[in-house]
Amino acid sequence: MPVESEAPAPLGLAAPLLAWYDRNARDLPWRLPPGTPAVPDPYRVWLAEVMLQQTTVEAAREPYARFLARWPTVAALAAADDAEVMAAWAGLGYYARARNLLRCARTVAAAGGAFPRSEGELRRLPGLGPYTAAAVAALAFGARTLPVDANVARVGARLFALQPEGPALLRAVGERLRPEVPADRAGDFAQALMDLGAVVCRPRAPDCPRCPLAARCHARALGLAEAFPRRTPRRARPTRRGSVWWVEADGRVALVRRPPRGLLAGMLALPGTGWSAEQPRALPFPGDWRWAAEPVRHGFTHFDLVLEVAGIRLAVPPAFAEGLIWTSRDSLAGLPTVFRKAAAVGRELARA
Ligand code: SF4
Repeated sequence: MPVESEAPAPLGLAAPLLAWYDRNARDLPWRLPPGTPAVPDPYRVWLAEVMLQQTTVEAAREPYARFLARWPTVAALAAADDAEVMAAWAGLGYYARARNLLRCARTVAAAGGAFPRSEGELRRLPGLGPYTAAAVAALAFGARTLPVDANVARVGARLFALQPEGPALLRAVGERLRPEVPADRAGDFAQALMDLGAVVCRPRAPDCPRCPLAARCHARALGLAEAFPRRTPRRARPTRRGSVWWVEADGRVALVRRPPRGLLAGMLALPGTGWSAEQPRALPFPGDWRWAAEPVRHGFTHFDLVLEVAGIRLAVPPAFAEGLIWTSRDSLAGLPTVFRKAAAVGRELARA
């Protein structure tokens, strides 16, 4: 006879967790306080969740406010100029998110301007993976689901002393915690777990005496709170090298636009060489160049980049490459972080 797998019975985590959340919810600009009668705006929830992937809460606050001021609705964002959105995304990294943000906004706007309410329909929107779809469904529409981010995964791993790592852990935590989601406060339940993970059940030194779930926590009972979740050893990332050039003339600096595909596609950049394992220092033309004493280092997902920076200041703008974009040296806010770091060094070199 086939054995039916059963969902685990709820442990009653919602009541103590939500009581704690009602007193301790973080004050975040994309969130409504617990107990408020207002209805969340799906556009704001979605925008925040996309920004918060790979970006800390603190780093997301300012760009979130800037985006909302510039594009207050999904229709406004859908009508935005691509280059302007990419420039506004500068500093948040992982620029594929910004491209997907635009594609998703245009898809929603073309369908009438309302986000779909179900997790399944949300999954079909461009750029919405399982996490974001569950987050929008729960936080904006109160669907009885649970987005499992790193904070929720850590809390779940400890509560149930779970052994899996990586994606298997996310699945296991979702399976164990979803039955706990209350029908009437699904969004608050998810946000409460996120806050608990951020403030109490921290990666290091979890504050178990302050935890509303301490009496039900397996890892704590074992005296092994910090041992969960198990940590996957990091694989060493390869290093790539290259040179970038700060070429300044008449108060302006030469920029280029990166190719439409690949890393930082379509973004503004300082001109320079390609990046490879063994890239020697190189210059685009002879002159009174200065090299920075220390290279700029930047970590991408799959490799570390080491950029040698050279700077020069000239009286007349040279035409040393195709497609140069001469831009005021004081308005480079649209550069991605790696080139902003290099620009800060180059600016000093040209001034020296
Ligand atoms: Fe985390 Fe400690 Fe609470 Fe367990 S008791 S969930 S380890 S803070």
